[in-house]
Amino acid sequence: MFNQGGKFKLEKVLRFRKKDLTNYTINFLKKLGVPIEDAKIAADVLVTADVRGIDSHGLIRLNTYYGKRLAKKYINPLTPIKVISETDTTILIDGGNGLGQVASFKAMQRCIGKAKKSNVAITTVRHSNHYGIAGYYSMMALKEDMIGISLTNSQALVAPTYGRTPVLGTNPISIAVPSYNQYPYILDMATSTVPIGRIKVYEKNNEKIPPGWGIDDSGEVTDDPKKIQSGGPGALLPLGGTDIMRGYKGYGLALMVDILCGTLSGGANLTEVGFPHDLSKESNVSHFFMAIKIDAFRPLIDFKKQMDKLVKILKNSPKAKGQDKIYIAGEKEFETAKYNEKHGVPILANVIEDIKKYGANISVPFNIKPIG
Ligand code: NDP
Repeated sequence: MFNQGGKFKLEKVLRFRKKDLTNYTINFLKKLGVPIEDAKIAADVLVTADVRGIDSHGLIRLNTYYGKRLAKKYINPLTPIKVISETDTTILIDGGNGLGQVASFKAMQRCIGKAKKSNVAITTVRHSNHYGIAGYYSMMALKEDMIGISLTNSQALVAPTYGRTPVLGTNPISIAVPSYNQYPYILDMATSTVPIGRIKVYEKNNEKIPPGWGIDDSGEVTDDPKKIQSGGPGALLPLGGTDIMRGYKGYGLALMVDILCGTLSGGANLTEVGFPHDLSKESNVSHFFMAIKIDAFRPLIDFKKQMDKLVKILKNSPKAKGQDKIYIAGEKEFETAKYNEKHGVPILANVIEDIKKYGANISVPFNIKPIG
């Protein structure tokens, strides 16, 4: 959000060892009643986001989305998941209003386990919470040389085409596909044009937003970030933007995600999904996971080599004026992760300040020294 592809100057960041951030996060969650094994899962999801440069969904959320809600028991620290129904290829899980990361990790683990036996499997989860980056769970399938898919619904921030209030979540889609020598293909994207955090950065910098990112409370496209508030008034536009930019396709994708997550699982839809920073009620988020065993279709090696060929065709295709490289989704994040693992994981200084304050309140002092 703050250091990727934007035009903004880097805000002050401090770099830390991945291991130190992970251990701190585990201790933080443990203190709030999360069992150690679950804390390890949630910590890995959060820190992985920062390692891969998705700083909008890493430790910036530790306190605001999870810590405060765990403390008030609006998230059940024990994540008591329960299987509601099960077949050879499907599972429906009740997430027990626990940590979304823990329910999702376990749901994807079981999904992969089933796909090993049945070639393909789908798991849905209802009654859960914000699960962080969609890509974490799709990537779990790569370890087994499978294709992984991960979707979640989320709190309403996006207006449907011709609407003027937030009704849909930014409902992300992720698919992870293994290759042979190339990076795996990892698409991990919100179905809104931009996340709300991006609007907030423009607001903070007193900058106008590009047309098509959001609308004011009358449904008119606005360039004023102040007119787009989280949960309204105003709203984000779906991926693509306005009608003329074919934003209704993004609207369609966001709704598809909500149907596969919320409706298929019997969970909440649209505005029924709660805000992760709302300290008054459960969020009722739903997720969808799928694992596909490639060698049920054809030899794995052939598939992977064909993936490499596909990547090469894309990369060798002619570049636009001023560009010297074509990327494959996931590639930049792998490069970022390599850099951050070597040079330290960057966290915004003001995020550290927030964690320090909250950590002191719950007697988990943040004493980690930045490196470099
Ligand atoms: P981005 O717009 O930053 O990126 C979307 C996708 O496009 C990524 O897979 C990215 O891969 C790829 N991409 C970016 N640039 C290029 C390029 N030049 N060529 C090819 N591919 C490219 O992500 P979003 O802002 O949409 O989402 C950020 C994160 O927020 C995601 O992890 C998502 O799961 C999460 N999220 C979570 C929600 C929740 O409720 N839990 C809600 C909404 C979003 P790469 O970065 O490797 O280039």
